[in-house]
Amino acid sequence: MVLAHGTDSYYKAIILETLVKETSPSSVNPTEPTVNIFRDATKNLTSLVKVELLVMVNLIIFGAPGSGKGTYAARLKEKLNVEVIATGDIFREMIKEDTPLGRKVKAYVEKGLLVPDDITLEVLKENLAKIPRGKGFILDGYPRTLKQAKALDGIAKIDAIIHLVVPDWIIIERLSSRRICENCGAIYNLLFLKPKKDMICDKCGGSLYQRSDDTPEVIKRRIEVYEKQTQPLLEYYKEKRVPFVEARCEKLETPPEVVVQEIMNGLKRLGLA
Ligand code: ADP
Ligand code: ZN
Repeated sequence: MVLAHGTDSYYKAIILETLVKETSPSSVNPTEPTVNIFRDATKNLTSLVKVELLVMVNLIIFGAPGSGKGTYAARLKEKLNVEVIATGDIFREMIKEDTPLGRKVKAYVEKGLLVPDDITLEVLKENLAKIPRGKGFILDGYPRTLKQAKALDGIAKIDAIIHLVVPDWIIIERLSSRRICENCGAIYNLLFLKPKKDMICDKCGGSLYQRSDDTPEVIKRRIEVYEKQTQPLLEYYKEKRVPFVEARCEKLETPPEVVVQEIMNGLKRLGLA
């Protein structure tokens, strides 16, 4: 059975698994109601295990193209013990590998259109399944449609939404000067997040390239698609009462660390970091 991330049964499974490992298996009576086993199990857990369970957090990072989702998610990954699932990165990888599915995906990405929901959902499921038990995640670029959001409801529990609020003019400036490492995917910007050596990745020495969908025409389309299809999802999560952490960026030169700190403060207020 595949358990949904973050649900009670998911936590119970981790606790029971740990208990069975720590004590002799005969101490868990299989006919006992789960709720009793759960209660007894938590009594026996070491505090270390409890801490690990408490810090597990599932987040969605939301914002227009170029609002900085990927940049911040990469930095939050280090601070929160989570994996990042970025559907755009996964699609670009599929395109690079030039598989039949990659070729299909390419036709949408190049035009700035959304990849069909069925393909996207498959990709999400595959990548969620790879996350080690007990580790949380940040979704970057998923969900983008109501159908995707509803599908996610059946798979994972979301603890909070990080909402990036960035004016249009910053988005356009940033996207047209964005460069990516072809090797490790690190994100740079020729204006305010320059690599130390021209067009070379600081982290791995890979070459930097410009995404083929970072051209003025495709950028415009992506922003339209975001406003029409993705932005309404904010209402969907507000109605479901999922907590929000808002991070604003009003200046082009604001360093990523400042915004990341704002997000971390918001998560701390919610008891999630
Ligand atoms: P950005 O947020 O800057 O537009 P991404 O890397 O997140 O960039 O996405 C790039 C492209 O990948 C999108 O324009 C779209 O074609 C495709 N894509 C990514 N995530 C999804 C998704 N959840 N559903 C459909 N298409 C997606
Ligand atoms: Zn690199």
